[in-house]
Amino acid sequence: MYPESFTQLKRAYASGRTRPLTWRREQLDALRRMIAEHGHDFIAAETADLGKPASETVLMELNLISAEARFVRNRMGFWSKRQYKPMPWSLQPAQGWTIAEPKGVVLIIAPWNYPVLLALEPLADAIAAGNAVCIKPSELAPHMSALIAKLVAQYLDQEAITVVEGGPKETGELLDCAFDHIFYTGGERVGKIVMAAAAKHLTPVTLELGGKSPCFVDNTVDLNVAARRIAWGKFSNAGQTCVAPDYVLVTPDIAEALAKRISVAVTEFYGENPETSEDYGRIINDRHFERLLKLLPAGTVPPQEPSSPLIKAASAVGAAAEMVGRRINVGLDALASRKAQQAPGVIDSAGRLVCGGAVNRETRYIAPTVLLGTQPYAPVMNEEIFGPILPILVVEDADAAIRFINARPRPLAAYVFSNRRAVRLAFERRTSSGSLGYSLTLAQLLSSRLPFGGVGASGMGAYHGKTGFETFSHIKTVVAKPQFPDTLKLVYPPLDEFKTKL
Ligand code: NAD
Repeated sequence: MYPESFTQLKRAYASGRTRPLTWRREQLDALRRMIAEHGHDFIAAETADLGKPASETVLMELNLISAEARFVRNRMGFWSKRQYKPMPWSLQPAQGWTIAEPKGVVLIIAPWNYPVLLALEPLADAIAAGNAVCIKPSELAPHMSALIAKLVAQYLDQEAITVVEGGPKETGELLDCAFDHIFYTGGERVGKIVMAAAAKHLTPVTLELGGKSPCFVDNTVDLNVAARRIAWGKFSNAGQTCVAPDYVLVTPDIAEALAKRISVAVTEFYGENPETSEDYGRIINDRHFERLLKLLPAGTVPPQEPSSPLIKAASAVGAAAEMVGRRINVGLDALASRKAQQAPGVIDSAGRLVCGGAVNRETRYIAPTVLLGTQPYAPVMNEEIFGPILPILVVEDADAAIRFINARPRPLAAYVFSNRRAVRLAFERRTSSGSLGYSLTLAQLLSSRLPFGGVGASGMGAYHGKTGFETFSHIKTVVAKPQFPDTLKLVYPPLDEFKTKL
């Protein structure tokens, strides 16, 4: 591990320097100053790592960090006060209250897709709660990781807030340390590694994971607005957003019209050729790029010739494994797919290409791609897509959509475009997801007043605003009882009939 960094953070926390509200205010103000003074550096790092448009970095990351830091700064004093609670008659006379104390030394592990937001927004909450903090940015966004390390050292209290750069090895070493809380954002596989490591020290964890977030649309809504909101949520950051609508479930009467309008919205946003748009991003690395190409309908992208016998053998094994996977899924999804209606002209389980499909290996560009008539057992429905491919599945009605969603792991978000009150209530009461959006996508995470987190396979715990403050705090119960009169003598032994009467 980095015993030096950890020991130093322990020492800083034990010294009490992170507890006073003045320290917390100074750090949160410095964090906001850092964002304001280095906006261009953050934009440049995002462009270098992700090809992310400047507008997205500003709107979806930098502004949100500043807003969160301001929100918690202005309220943490109140949240830190004693919260008095009424006491039961059996304890009277007595006073009881809770007090938020910092967890101690906390670790924040960030992913690459919103590399500055997901490192520094939880940092704001952790500082507001009075903790010493170690941040581990993602090695897959190396420019951002280096920038965060440099600026945090420059702007924030170096004794109590530190950055450790690196990948799985360095993170593994950090996970050997007995942190007081671990806040992890990323995929499910590593989430399990984090939780297993935390268990060794009984360290509490917050896991902000992902999953396949569904989006249901019926014929009661304005399709143009629905299409624009779905396209914006899906194709921002080239689909690499944890709460992006992963797939659409639509009733048969409007399936074709919705697919067309989403493709119109794509043209409105990014022009006829999104490859030349300044507002459209790229895929993070070759591994994710190749993974995404496999999810497109067969023949969309010409395959690369395997260069060696070993790679040829590996791709043959991969194809066989995919066949087995498909067969299992066919069985599992038989019930859901029986009623699903296939759009005319579909020849591939991934669906028919409505728009997109163009790619550029050199720049890792994948055009915003809409597929209609996708089958539930298609490979694109087997994993979180995390890229700019939007499958549209046709379902009979809202009830079928709810059954479809409930047959799968609980998603990070669910979106419903329907003006029927009964339909909205059915989704609210009968499905479970980290968050639920009516007539919107993504925007539920913009408010510091609302908790943000997953459920089941999409995560545990939450943050933002007061919830984030509490995530990084221990809410301690305090009860004070005067010594006289000694009313507790009612429960002291020896116990007679009167004392033990039901
Ligand atoms: P990633 O590869 O950047 O990994 C996340 C972090 O885990 C990194 O800091 C990395 O260094 C570390 N890591 C990787 N392998 C490790 C190992 N073997 N041991 C210990 N640490 C390791 O990010 P990712 O997992 O590709 O992120 C994408 C996923 O994150 C998607 O599933 C997405 O939905 C999810 N996500 C969730 C949220 C949310 O707020 N819930 C936000 C963004 C992304």
